[in-house]
Amino acid sequence: MLNLKLFAVPCAYLDSHLKMTVTEDEPQPQTDSTTPKPKYEVLEDLPGVGPATSQKLKEMGFHTIESLATATARELEPAGISEKKALDVIRLARGSIDLAFIRADELLKQRENIDRLSTGSEVLDNLLGGGLETQTITEFYGEYGSGKSQLCHQLCVNVQLPAQQGGLSAAALYLDTENTFRTERLVQMAQHLDLDPPEVAKNVVVADAYTSDHQIFLLENADKVIKQNNIRLIIIDSLTSHFRSEYVGRETLALRQQKLNKHMHKLIRLARAFNAVTVVTNQVMAKPDVFFGDAVHPIGGHIVAHTSHTRIYLRKASRGPIRIARLVSSPYLPDGEGIFKITQNGIEEAEEGEGRRRRR
Ligand code: ATP
Ligand code: MG
Repeated sequence: MLNLKLFAVPCAYLDSHLKMTVTEDEPQPQTDSTTPKPKYEVLEDLPGVGPATSQKLKEMGFHTIESLATATARELEPAGISEKKALDVIRLARGSIDLAFIRADELLKQRENIDRLSTGSEVLDNLLGGGLETQTITEFYGEYGSGKSQLCHQLCVNVQLPAQQGGLSAAALYLDTENTFRTERLVQMAQHLDLDPPEVAKNVVVADAYTSDHQIFLLENADKVIKQNNIRLIIIDSLTSHFRSEYVGRETLALRQQKLNKHMHKLIRLARAFNAVTVVTNQVMAKPDVFFGDAVHPIGGHIVAHTSHTRIYLRKASRGPIRIARLVSSPYLPDGEGIFKITQNGIEEAEEGEGRRRRR
């Protein structure tokens, strides 16, 4: 059973005609553009996938054509299908959602499909080049109370707004690993935006993850919930806490990193398949050997550092509601800093005199 507290089931199927670059080492799609490829809606539509196979695939977490399109043959083997059949199924699924090799100029056009989600602070949005972008992972890291979970709550509200107000007119999935999700906080934020709080709460699907394996399981099985609820924001708050407490000692490090790597790649695939914003939060560890600069660094090592596309370091100002956000890593934006504040209303602009806006 998925331990999902379903607040709502608004059913709007997303546009899955999403072009993507293929990075998997498994079968590449046919590039014959003359024959139109058949479109499959559900697993059972795929030639060669009978009720028994589709049942097994679903039990393994492959509920949708999108998830099959981004699977590898090895992942499908436990369903009891041959490698050849697995490759065929993946090829057909990929053909169905228009995965293809594309040129860089087309890639640029494809980036026009990327949507942006506002944080609620213009300063923070500008730092991120106009808000959090879909199809990639954004990581917020920082010490306790730095505002990571507050930002996640705010994004759950903002994603429901129409595009002209910085939203995606969609719902959110919140994977809560620390039991810090609070509907009451959503209500406060919704009231401030003159939204109907019960309606806002209905569009946030929350899942409590009790262990790292449970967290992995929930994400592996999230595709159906994402599709059925028109979810375009996926949050894991926090990505690393279970892994950190369960894998203690050097000898467990390799396994921990391997699991984290796979988990994050699943998240990237969901982000691409559903044109969704994905957000992970991360704690920090003290660096005892640092005398100058920040004596902390995020958990998760190289795996998390390389897999998060955009990383933002959050700090508390010496006192009060002000928070300092620093863009630490982005594929195309310069590093920079900005400030915002956390109030009863949610994430807000810091006013003149409340803090100094700094950018490099
Ligand atoms: P952790 O690592 O412990 O999960 P975090 O970075 O997720 O920390 P948050 O929960 O996002 O921290 O931030 C908590 C802070 O947000 C509180 O200390 C407080 O300053 C602020 N905050 C939370 N709720 C409110 C509210 N209703 N009104 C004003 N400020 C609030
Ligand atoms: Mg938190």
